[in-house]
Amino acid sequence: MPFKYPDLCHRIVANTVMAVDSFYDGTPCWLWLGKRNASGYPVISLRWQRGPRKGKVRSALAHRVSLVAFKRRRLSARSVAKHLCNNPVCVNPDHLAGGTQRSNIRQCVAEGRHYTPFREAA
Ligand SMILES: [Zn+2]
Repeated sequence: MPFKYPDLCHRIVANTVMAVDSFYDGTPCWLWLGKRNASGYPVISLRWQRGPRKGKVRSALAHRVSLVAFKRRRLSARSVAKHLCNNPVCVNPDHLAGGTQRSNIRQCVAEGRHYTPFREAA
């Protein structure tokens, strides 16, 4: 009999470890222990719940799944789950916010994390 988690939230927590050196707003990052994609973002395996591929396995970005599972946030196909803690492997729902890629890049530039070849030498 295969082990089953009571729900997706339990499964996400069981596959993370609390960070000791990465915090946001006083709470530690939840570091994903599972698979990562080529860009270093956490990946989780899910099954299609409906449609012609119902029951088939699909992979999804775990930080997106975390935001939907814990915060009941609806994410459209075009919207992104932004890391407020700037730690790509973090799946702590309190460190995530839904938004557009436009607002994601604005946050990056506002924090000075963007690349520019014209930056003045410090
Ligand atoms: Zn975090």
